[in-house]
Amino acid sequence: MVTIQEAFSILKNNLPHPKIEELLLAKAKKQVLAEDVIAPISMPPFRQSAMDGFALGLYDGLDYEIVGEIKAGDGHNVVLKAGQAVKIFTGAAVPDSATAVMQIEKVTVSGNKLKLEEHPTIEMNIRPMGEQNLKGAVVLQKGTVLNAACIGFLAGIGLTHVKVFRKSKIGILVTGNELVKPGLPLEYGKIYESNSVMLEVALEEAFYDCTNTYNVNDNFENTKDKIAKALEENDVILISGGISVGDYDFVAKALEALNVETLFYKVKQKPGKPLFAGKLNDKMIFALPGNPAASLTCFYVYVLPSLQMISGHELDYGQTFSKKLTHDFTVSNARNQFLKAHIQGDEVTVLTHQNSSMLNTFAISNGLMYVEDGGYELKEGDSVEVYVIK
Ligand code: AMP
Ligand code: MG
Repeated sequence: MVTIQEAFSILKNNLPHPKIEELLLAKAKKQVLAEDVIAPISMPPFRQSAMDGFALGLYDGLDYEIVGEIKAGDGHNVVLKAGQAVKIFTGAAVPDSATAVMQIEKVTVSGNKLKLEEHPTIEMNIRPMGEQNLKGAVVLQKGTVLNAACIGFLAGIGLTHVKVFRKSKIGILVTGNELVKPGLPLEYGKIYESNSVMLEVALEEAFYDCTNTYNVNDNFENTKDKIAKALEENDVILISGGISVGDYDFVAKALEALNVETLFYKVKQKPGKPLFAGKLNDKMIFALPGNPAASLTCFYVYVLPSLQMISGHELDYGQTFSKKLTHDFTVSNARNQFLKAHIQGDEVTVLTHQNSSMLNTFAISNGLMYVEDGGYELKEGDSVEVYVIK
């Protein structure tokens, strides 16, 4: 049995390092950059017109002769003499010989004669080459989470692929002979299986995916075989149930038979005392208690921060924030507790139905209040620690 703090630091010291893969840009949404990106080109790659108008071979007067036009995408570099102009469009390459662009709204044209309404200033309406970024510059840093703008930006400097921390393949194993899929008739003695879909969605909400799910019968051979298969097919496995000490809990024995190294087994906490964390080579194994509220609590407090560390994400789970209690509360327990709670602004309210088998108030909670063990009274207005669930 370890403390919550010990469990967390054991995980921190034993998690596998993030692995790197190269992905097509379009597939890299929300992934974390595994290296700095160096721009292969300057952007814009040439002096570029910021307006529809006329590129000018500058001289003192307001009257110019129009000698041609340059559309966006044209590649010719017209040589303008002083007093000459070319019609030009937004995004087109401004000839080297032009030193200003006058926008179309400020000129009058008759035939090939152009009259400006005002004097141009040097380089007006011209985007300098490399205004956004220069070739060779570090334009995005390792650790950046790629959003749509990042992807667009990287495509804009000509990249097709990007190196990111590899998303873990995650398998969920569900144990329990009593479990029935929702939608099927519920015979006496059975309950609906809810942990797999709950954990799948909790993973997805936090950007991760469940790659495979496995249903496991409560017998040793099946438990061992399914865990072995899941370990072959995934980087991280989450096992639901079967980790307690009942006669039909086979997960601990199966893990031992498979030579999984125990990082910790049992944590001084409520709910979620039977939590197990283990490792086999670079694969991580979390065995979560079957009781749904305990399972989800362990997921948020331990599994999610671990996944964030494994995949190079900034850690935003596993940390607590201080809030003020809206009511008196008696703490009477020999274990530290995570209590289903509702946070509003700076305040937190403990919800009813704290039993680890019950999800009804977890469903309306947005945080877990953490209290240390012992028998004592908390008063309205006291400062308490909460884990925020996003
Ligand atoms: P266990 O950890 O296997 O002893 O299960 C503890 C409690 O959680 C039992 O009442 C189980 O029926 C229940 N339970 C286990 N797995 C699930 C699940 N996947 N969905 C809903 N309840 C479950
Ligand atoms: Mg069970």
